[in-house]
Amino acid sequence: MGIQITDVRAITTNPYGCNLTVVRVDTNQPGLYGLGCATFTYRWKAVECMVNEYLKPLLVGRDPANIEELFQLMNVNSYWRNGPVTNNAISGVDMALWDIKGKLANMPVYDLLGGKCRQAVEVYRHADGPCPEKVEENVRKFMDEGVRHIRIQCGGYGGKAVDMNTPAGSPEGVYYCPDQYFRKTVELFAYMREHVGWEVEFCHDTHERLPAIQSVQLAKELEPFRLYFLEDILSPEQGEWFRMVRQNCTTPIANGELYNNPKEYDFLIKERLIDFIRCHISQIGGITPAKKLAVFAEVFGVRTAWHGPGDVSPVGHAANIHLDLSAPNFGIQEWCGFTDIAYEMFPGMPVLKNGFVWANDKPGLGIEFDEELAKKYPAVHDVTKWTQTRFPDGTMHTP
Ligand code: MG
Repeated sequence: MGIQITDVRAITTNPYGCNLTVVRVDTNQPGLYGLGCATFTYRWKAVECMVNEYLKPLLVGRDPANIEELFQLMNVNSYWRNGPVTNNAISGVDMALWDIKGKLANMPVYDLLGGKCRQAVEVYRHADGPCPEKVEENVRKFMDEGVRHIRIQCGGYGGKAVDMNTPAGSPEGVYYCPDQYFRKTVELFAYMREHVGWEVEFCHDTHERLPAIQSVQLAKELEPFRLYFLEDILSPEQGEWFRMVRQNCTTPIANGELYNNPKEYDFLIKERLIDFIRCHISQIGGITPAKKLAVFAEVFGVRTAWHGPGDVSPVGHAANIHLDLSAPNFGIQEWCGFTDIAYEMFPGMPVLKNGFVWANDKPGLGIEFDEELAKKYPAVHDVTKWTQTRFPDGTMHTP
């Protein structure tokens, strides 16, 4: 009998304040299994159900070597496709199949994808603070550690608004003022270039917090400060506005952590309206669609900057790093930083040294998962509130 899938399981754990979902695919070969990331932190129960109740019965008995066939099978099985729950469930399995393939070939996944274009992956870190002086302090700490690319924010996404005139009786939410945020962001960049200089690359994430025309204005006003990139100035629903951004300035644009469907990004790449594609790999379905997207972007001179927040499991971060190592059009990798518990629960996960993240050279994704330890950190079941983002007059806006 050839190799067959014998089990598919989703396991969710919360070791450092995020619900993380890992998928394990077992086979009939002794010791041969794979791990993948299916982390959709705010809907983890839905993803677990999709994996355990629908993908497992679909996949058991099939040959794990046929990654492309199984990706297509999972993608069309529910008839409706390209949704975040479905894509994350597929991603968990897809990454695990690449992990298995690497173990069978006795090669790291980056070798399966064509081999290394670089020895390690340069990353950017996040510096925030309540005022430009505090942001500068945090920037200098990263610079001392050898980091050359730093995302700067003042008061988080949308800034810290003061003296808002909000009508009595307005609902609860995360309130912020777009006009204040706009002004303070331009001031922050002017301050940083004056005090820190030009030897460091700066990024900024607007998290779609501005109305579309104000996003165009922000890209234009930040142009003199020569950003490495300006991120998520427009939501997936408003992508056509990027044409106006391009007509007005040359600020490099990064977008895409919310994309689930190729139709959300194909025209942005073909028309060269963005400079960095920033998808969240599990949200688009795993390594199989990500490697195609990287190649597609390369043709049009668009670089990759895959999403790397805390709510991607270390298995997902490992997948990012293997994609980064093998892509000629790799730009930069977001790295959120991890506490010791992450390295304890996920032995073999990539490590940061002097501004670069290194993968190990073990077969597959090179990462393990201590399920017994994970049980000590159970997932938290609640309804998140931070996404109730509102303008000063109480109107809901995208988070
Ligand atoms: Mg972002």
